[in-house]
Amino acid sequence: MGNIIKAQKGTKDILPNEIGSWHMLEQKALEVFTSAGFKEIRTPIFEATELFARGVGDTTDIVNKEMYTFEKSERSLTLRPENTAGVVRAFIENGMSRLSMPVKLWYKGPMFRYERPQAGRQRQFHQVGVEMFGIKEPTADAEVISLAVAYLNAIGLNDLDVEINSLGCPKCREEFSKNLRNALRPYLEKMCPDCQSRFEKNPLRILDCKVPECKEILESEELQNVIAKDYICDECHEHFEKVKSYLNVLNIKYSVNKLLVRGLDYYNRTVFEIKSNNLGSQNAVCGGGRYDSLVGHLGGQDTPAVGFAMGMERLKSLLPETEVKPLTAYVVCDNSEHAFKLVNELREKGISADFDMTCKKFTKQLEKASKIANFACILGEDELSKNEVSVKNMLTSKQITVSRDDVVSAFVQ
Ligand code: ATP
Ligand code: MG
Repeated sequence: MGNIIKAQKGTKDILPNEIGSWHMLEQKALEVFTSAGFKEIRTPIFEATELFARGVGDTTDIVNKEMYTFEKSERSLTLRPENTAGVVRAFIENGMSRLSMPVKLWYKGPMFRYERPQAGRQRQFHQVGVEMFGIKEPTADAEVISLAVAYLNAIGLNDLDVEINSLGCPKCREEFSKNLRNALRPYLEKMCPDCQSRFEKNPLRILDCKVPECKEILESEELQNVIAKDYICDECHEHFEKVKSYLNVLNIKYSVNKLLVRGLDYYNRTVFEIKSNNLGSQNAVCGGGRYDSLVGHLGGQDTPAVGFAMGMERLKSLLPETEVKPLTAYVVCDNSEHAFKLVNELREKGISADFDMTCKKFTKQLEKASKIANFACILGEDELSKNEVSVKNMLTSKQITVSRDDVVSAFVQ
């Protein structure tokens, strides 16, 4: 006998007893996003490595440490760690910039990141997200944030903290980076190696560091003062104020978190994160923001854009356990031909039905029916000779007799 092969660390089977929640998450995404005019897009699971290096940014953890990269025919390929880069590539490649704006897209599917697995953190996980192209006005930021909240509410999550921040434009960011560098320089030696390399390349990223020593430095009064100062220019300031006023109009509660910088290198202006109060340390369920330079950066015509992604495993962990729905009918019969025929007639009318393929004893078949179905449709010798079916309600044990010709329509009502 061979060794048992197990699923890879950080990957999980989604089993039949939990699939109901996944169907619900996917169905609600379709409903909520469609109702706001978003259309689904499905992009490939693997892409050229360069797409992520350029599209996510080479100062990010995703690109530096977390990518599943492999070679095939001398090409470097990567399993997508997120889907914004793929959607932007598809937007450019399929000439969507010629469509009338906005172009509103949503997606769902598996993503891959080589991370340390823990609760709420896997190596293969699923995201659902939206990307909206072509609108530079703050209405788009508010629309996308409100859509995220609408989706979370639709799946039954209401205890949420929406955090927003503005990173400003590259000009404002330069000013912030300069001040941050000056304030951090005396502590540089005490910081983690990642932050030391972020210091020159992208000091804002240090705000996102999860290493306790670095966090402590950031929490010092001196650093907090630098972070709290407003660096954003007048236009960026006005944009952010408008986003906030739309959120107020929409009755969406939010707080401003100046430490929020988000994972992509190409975010500008509005960034946001939604946390759930029911999750432990991995409590972020949604992250998003505006990325006006990404389409241009990936070779397309400059197009403003804003979007978000949510982690579906984390959403799932917040939902109540769902019961596996039983079958409507279980056909009890020791003649497989009759059983097959009735089961198929029921299924054709959309009534879930099954039967015992091994013709066990009637008592065994009834036992099985009581476990997996609401009704047993009994086709015994007696019933077959009279062209009837006994229908037994497995909950109440009440039994009635119906003509064989009418039994399917009796279930349809
Ligand atoms: P974190 O700070 O938790 O690592 P992130 O900033 O890397 O999150 P994003 O790239 O913004 O996450 O992805 C959006 C959402 O996807 C996150 O808010 C989270 O819910 C989910 N997510 C990210 N990485 C994982 C993972 N490894 N396993 C499960 N869900 C994840
Ligand atoms: Mg991460």
